[in-house]
Amino acid sequence: MKILVLNSGSSSVKYQLLDMKNQTVLASGLVERIGEPTGLVRHKRRPSTDQEQTFTEEMPIQDHATGLARVVELITGKDTGVISAVSEINAIGHRIVHGGESFSTPTLIDEAVIEGIKAQIPLAPLHNPGGLAGIETAQRLLPGVPNVAVFDTAFHQTMAPEAYRYAIPKSLYTELKIRRYGFHGTSHLYVAKQCARLLAKPFAETSCVTVHLGNGCSMAAIKNGKCIDTSMGLTPLAGLVMGTRSGDVDPALHAFLADNKNLSIREIDTILNKQSGLKGMCGHNDMRDIHDLIAQGDEDAQLALRVFCRRVTQYIGQYLALLDGTDAVCFTAGIGENDHVVRRLSCATLSGVGAILDTHLNAEAPRGKAVEISASNSRVKIFIIPTNEELEIATQTLEVLG
Ligand code: ADP
Repeated sequence: MKILVLNSGSSSVKYQLLDMKNQTVLASGLVERIGEPTGLVRHKRRPSTDQEQTFTEEMPIQDHATGLARVVELITGKDTGVISAVSEINAIGHRIVHGGESFSTPTLIDEAVIEGIKAQIPLAPLHNPGGLAGIETAQRLLPGVPNVAVFDTAFHQTMAPEAYRYAIPKSLYTELKIRRYGFHGTSHLYVAKQCARLLAKPFAETSCVTVHLGNGCSMAAIKNGKCIDTSMGLTPLAGLVMGTRSGDVDPALHAFLADNKNLSIREIDTILNKQSGLKGMCGHNDMRDIHDLIAQGDEDAQLALRVFCRRVTQYIGQYLALLDGTDAVCFTAGIGENDHVVRRLSCATLSGVGAILDTHLNAEAPRGKAVEISASNSRVKIFIIPTNEELEIATQTLEVLG
């Protein structure tokens, strides 16, 4: 079974072709700057193997259809490809950012589903149109191949109203569906399932806190295999401090900035999404750069790191309190998997709530592997679990197709 996974953004398409027989990635790549004068295609044949080959090309890519057509040529090409014809692709799994309240499971795409995804555009105006372009193009270029939508919000749809409703007028919920949705659901689900495997427990009996720290950062509280709370909200701006996003701020900040800096709502939104977080505090959004700056004595970078980790600690504490008994805390994504300093600072005061880090195991943890980093007397285990959203999308796509 070969599954093509597509993650179509507003001006980019990330792709992976997976062979699900042995869960290997046959090809992967990224089409960037769609619609700009010069687009960029980066294609890898047999990535992360000793036969890995990378092909990079610059070319104008006017739209998603042009980009995806090039992807199809690359994965079937004699010199760049891994299959001889598109007919070898059994299904296409699409990452769709927002499923609103309409989609709580991966879904086989038909006309009604496309309309359903379109209906969520007001909730994700920057993301869902890219996903739809990916679906429409795939249907045209690979006729007859089933398409499945896997929603970033779906895993969080099990939250109870007391978790997802905001304390604002009810009419804003009923009219506009303003509520907490949460994102990164595919990653949280994958990591929680891996956590259950490490614990040798059925997923439906596993409770854990998943801590996804990448460019975007979010956390989920999972009780008996179901999400009961998550840190992102109506949009991905809420919750943890991120690379360029502020995370939680006083909601009165918008009015304050409008009054005192004469900024428009759009300008404030841009500040909070693109110029805040780690970047806003010290000028850099990559955690590796922040460590370099700290080594040079940069106090802004030091403070940015402390604010980032304190917020992680606060949310872990919140979720341990809500879960009333947890098996594990699981760190994942670029920072969560690789940055032992962030993990150490984030867990420094958690021993009182039963999660004790083994600082040696933490500092020496091998890259790219799921490992335990908690002390032997820790009631709550602490794990590093590499995420794999593409594999999870391919797995769910297969499940939908039975
Ligand atoms: P995305 O959210 O785009 O999928 P990733 O999960 O790949 O992002 O995380 C990207 C971030 O991970 C980078 O911005 C960087 O801050 C961080 N990161 C990656 N490698 C390391 C590392 N070795 N040490 C610390 N941080 C890292």
